[in-house]
Amino acid sequence: MNNSDIYLYNRNISKNADYTVWLAFPGIRSFALSSLGYLWMFKDIDTFDDVNIEMLCTDTKTTKNRIENVNLIGFSFTFDTDFLSIFSILERFSIPLKSSERGKDNPLIFAGGPVVSANPVPYKEFFDFIIIGDGEDINLKVVEICKSCKYKSKVEVLEKLAELDGIYVPSIVQKKVQKLTKRLESCVYTPIISSEAFFSNTFIIEMARGCANRCGFCLASYMNLPLRCAPYEDILKAIESGLKYTNKIALLGAQISAHPKFVEIFNFIDKKIKSGQQIEMSVSSLRVDAVRPEIIKTLVDAGQKNITLAIEAGSDRLRKVINKNLPKEKIFEAVKVSASAGLKGLKFYGMIGLPTETDEDINALVSLAEKIKKNYKSFDISFGFSSFVPKPNTPFQWIGREATKSLEQKAQYLKKEMHKLGVQVSVSSIKWDYWQAVLSRGGDGFADFLIDVYKNGGKLGDFKKSAKQHKINSDYYALGTFDFGANLPWDFIDIKPGKEFLQNECIKLLET
Ligand code: SF4
Repeated sequence: MNNSDIYLYNRNISKNADYTVWLAFPGIRSFALSSLGYLWMFKDIDTFDDVNIEMLCTDTKTTKNRIENVNLIGFSFTFDTDFLSIFSILERFSIPLKSSERGKDNPLIFAGGPVVSANPVPYKEFFDFIIIGDGEDINLKVVEICKSCKYKSKVEVLEKLAELDGIYVPSIVQKKVQKLTKRLESCVYTPIISSEAFFSNTFIIEMARGCANRCGFCLASYMNLPLRCAPYEDILKAIESGLKYTNKIALLGAQISAHPKFVEIFNFIDKKIKSGQQIEMSVSSLRVDAVRPEIIKTLVDAGQKNITLAIEAGSDRLRKVINKNLPKEKIFEAVKVSASAGLKGLKFYGMIGLPTETDEDINALVSLAEKIKKNYKSFDISFGFSSFVPKPNTPFQWIGREATKSLEQKAQYLKKEMHKLGVQVSVSSIKWDYWQAVLSRGGDGFADFLIDVYKNGGKLGDFKKSAKQHKINSDYYALGTFDFGANLPWDFIDIKPGKEFLQNECIKLLET
């Protein structure tokens, strides 16, 4: 821990417990310090007086506890390629990557996070157990069990853990594992404010979890149903307490505008600004329906210059297919409101290669940019695109990606046409998106392939080479369109609204 870190909870700094947990983050410390879920879990475990806890990041130079004294290591797993950093952390401490090769002297290793919650199967050989879904309520129980079984065999501990809802133990046959869904009875906020965080000295508050919009491709929505909103009073209290330490606050949530008190929360902050309090506020992204003059005005007063609007696709037709009912008139209205309320610019986020996409849909993106540019010459607009990646537990989980070559052609075309209009465009790497899809829908037998990718350096070419070597048919996982009746590796994850609903939704959307 660093001297510049401010703890917003009472911390026992003189703990000398005989049970030690390392909470590992597959990235550098500044990112860990901006990851709300990670910090919240750290704080929760830190409340045990009889458990030492330490952060472990890819740039951690020295640890307070020696590996010989560590009993449990938990990894946050948020992005598909996080396995590369996880392997490098394990190797640094000479811990075998596969759980079957670890002995009684190695700590128990577990993971949690959206990637392994949606489909843990490609990674199952690396972890002793995996938390599926929202971990907040189960974390303490897990640590409690592990601690109380310190002198028991790993098998005995894992048998106990497997009895809990939401815990997947790959070495034990479990017919179904229920995904955990936390009720947001209170507000989750940054428990440690740090000048070394990527979002330096920022107090992050989770206003809502999930999104009720249910776009057909969206894991953030389907893994987090139903939409839950933190209590209004709690949010205000959290804002007040955060502002005692910093003037930077960030409101988090996939659909914060769905909070029943969204406007009141903004008014609360606006009032403070108007009374002379210096506040810098940011929001993750806004849905177009939240772009109202009073909301944008508050953001501008709080120092925000640009916002991101996710429009996903260029045409009304394709937006309907993906379940994003957003007519273009609403987009134009949002631009008008943003420009007149004082924002300097807007970034639009979209996807290419969405199911049923045609050249007309791609051209609609260019027309949209052209029309906005024509009417708002000095307003700065830009576009960011990624390509469609089928995600487990969404209605589009059965649908394969478009071929890499044609997606790259579409990306080139968009760059060229938008460039002509003077509009900046960034497109994610189509080739990386392909491998993301392979990992997303991957299944049994991935372990040696993933180890090889890591050993060879983890670059794009290493994925291709290793897949070939281990006979992983990557095109099948990334490009294949699966039958509705096919068994999917993640079918054993018990998640609402269930496979039948997803199938009906997929059919309905594609027929739109
Ligand atoms: S509106 Fe955004 S967060 Fe909500 S379901 Fe659609 S893509 Fe996901």
